[in-house]
Amino acid sequence: MRRAVCPGSFDPIHNGHLEVIARAAGLFDEVIVAVSTNYAKKYMFSLGDRIDMARETLASLKGIVVEPVGEGLLAEYCHQRGVSAIVKGLRSSSDFDYELPMATMNRQLSGVETVFLPAEARYLHLSSTLIKEVASLGGSVSDYVPRSVQKRMLSGESASVQLPRG
Ligand code: ADP
Repeated sequence: MRRAVCPGSFDPIHNGHLEVIARAAGLFDEVIVAVSTNYAKKYMFSLGDRIDMARETLASLKGIVVEPVGEGLLAEYCHQRGVSAIVKGLRSSSDFDYELPMATMNRQLSGVETVFLPAEARYLHLSSTLIKEVASLGGSVSDYVPRSVQKRMLSGESASVQLPRG
């Protein structure tokens, strides 16, 4: 069984993420969507909500598991879970510059490979941060997130959730 992981904070999950995860599911027998929490960051959604949104929007895809991942080494997590590849979407050369040292380090630490998938052109500009900014200023994000996520973003705003960074 070839198992891959797509790690991220998914605050919230958006169409760029979903597209990369779907392509990863076509390449591997199982894809774990590993939802991380960095305690130095402020999130719009709780870990439970971020997991629920990912599960809801990925429910129709086969071979996907959504689970939380702790703050420890991703390489160690991959070793423990029998993951052979980390799949990352690449939007730009700055993504690549950021990801390359991590990919090399992860391979040296546990032998796990990193597979880079070029982001789909129409989602190249998407990040959770930008989507939250647009939504907080009253713009429509319906082209960028699934409807269930959009609903949650609107109700989060009405509860006057502060815009997080990251
Ligand atoms: P972070 O872990 O920095 O919080 P995210 O949760 O936003 O990042 O994203 C997780 C991963 O999803 C990123 O490392 C990247 O590989 C991928 N990704 C993010 N945005 C896009 C996009 N628009 N298109 C393709 N892949 C993306």
